[in-house]
Amino acid sequence: MGQRVALLPAVAQFLGREQKLLIGGAWVPAASGETFATLNPATGRPLTQVAQGAAVDIDRAVQAARAAFPAWAALLPAQRERLLHRFADLMEEHKAELAQLETLDNGKPFNVAYNVEVNVAIGQMRYYAGAPTRLTGETYPVSSPGFLVYTRREPLGVCGAITPWNYSLVMATQKIGPALATGNTLVLKPAEQTPLTALRLAELALAAGIPPGVFNVVTGFGDTAGAALTAHPDVNKVAFTGSTDVGRAIVRASAGNLKHVSLELGGKSPLIIFDDADLPAAAEAALWAIFANSGQNCVAGSRLYVQRRVYDTVLGELAARAGRLKVGDGLEPDTSLGPLISQRQLDQVLHFVEQGVAGGGTLVTGGQRPGGDLAGGYFLQPTIFGGVAEDSVIAREEIFGPVLSAFAFDDEADVLPRANHSRYGLAAGVWTNNLSRAHRLAQHLRAGVVWINTYDWFDPAVPFGGVGESGYGRELGSQVMDMYTELKSVWVKL
Ligand code: NAP
Ligand code: MG
Repeated sequence: MGQRVALLPAVAQFLGREQKLLIGGAWVPAASGETFATLNPATGRPLTQVAQGAAVDIDRAVQAARAAFPAWAALLPAQRERLLHRFADLMEEHKAELAQLETLDNGKPFNVAYNVEVNVAIGQMRYYAGAPTRLTGETYPVSSPGFLVYTRREPLGVCGAITPWNYSLVMATQKIGPALATGNTLVLKPAEQTPLTALRLAELALAAGIPPGVFNVVTGFGDTAGAALTAHPDVNKVAFTGSTDVGRAIVRASAGNLKHVSLELGGKSPLIIFDDADLPAAAEAALWAIFANSGQNCVAGSRLYVQRRVYDTVLGELAARAGRLKVGDGLEPDTSLGPLISQRQLDQVLHFVEQGVAGGGTLVTGGQRPGGDLAGGYFLQPTIFGGVAEDSVIAREEIFGPVLSAFAFDDEADVLPRANHSRYGLAAGVWTNNLSRAHRLAQHLRAGVVWINTYDWFDPAVPFGGVGESGYGRELGSQVMDMYTELKSVWVKL
């Protein structure tokens, strides 16, 4: 066993000062002077105070972003690349600090914050740092004589990014990277529960030489600061990750100036295990599919379908593995599952567990809050339900906590419609050693991403997004460039 992670002096200093808004390159308080506390979900205690930005602060930030836009868009592609690479370099230099802030603010285990979250965020920044010199148009063979026709990709202008608390850094860089690479300027409104890493990123962006106003951060609440950003007449695009209900509100708010919107929303993703699969590997994958990030994961594999012949074996294996997971403070070295993000989230998840029991589900394991030292935090034991009715609330709604519902199925024809029976369509997983069946299911599962004999893998080069009420638009990959540019067609009579 290792030792509890010791806080870096830089992290202690960061937490020691009240955090302000970054607008036009200057750190300023909210116009109202108001602040709010961000809490450590492992203890329920405040970490520091953060400026409570509202509509007038959003307006100032949008004006600053508008003023910075022409010069940023006019930079040579290689100049933008250099600045974005320097930004990624600084993230790398301050990796441990970013990971500690993420663990404190969000609760996730430090080794996950360090080895997964911050690494992925840096990888994304690097991928998009290289994008400006590869932003090309096309030429077209038109059927009229004597023309040259080509397209240009032009930035949209001022973009807004609204991010959730579950992967605060990655959700931010996934939007900052492509927005800035394509020559847009940006206003970011991070989740109220986890504002700290966005603020530290903004300091690093300034230090990297990204010009004032190109990247602005306004911390605050969704229904004030967030709503103002989505309704602002001078914002050209909003990229959002979060709940489906807020996604709907954003679409409505965007109607005023018909700003572009891309939405990464919730999910209730199925993971299907056939009896010919490598069962121990499948059980391990199913374990992390639901319990990674304490289930607070948009692609959480929260509906597990296991072929009937191996159902008891797989569930037994899964429950044994779940029982060995260590729930605890993310700064403790042996923690594998951190707390939920807030008392509110914990209450919601516990309510789902009650509904599961009331609806006749069988608790295979978990369902309890750990006591002792952990009583002050928002912890919940990893929880697995069997015998759940497929039309019950816990089988249909996104729980966003460490709660799995498991079902038995007979064959491919039985499981496919059941897996597809969801208003969401973000991700799906299939475990089988039958090649044809794997590809048939990949084709017919209604989801933006299908993982075969694996789960929850991402890469900056691979597009990600959902269908149905999981949202629209894609992030990552080169395809995200379409979400941050307008295509202009130019006709030249030769
Ligand atoms: P949320 O309300 O959708 O929050 C996501 C972001 O949107 C936050 O920055 C939030 O601000 C902001 N926001 C809230 N209302 C807004 C509005 N009217 N206009 C503009 N922005 C607004 O999600 P949540 O309350 O944190 O979590 C609730 C549920 O959402 C979860 O239980 C889960 O089901 C789902 N969720 C999904 C994902 C995902 O990755 N797909 C991520 C997080 C949550 P505040 O910081 O003030 O809330
Ligand atoms: Mg917090």
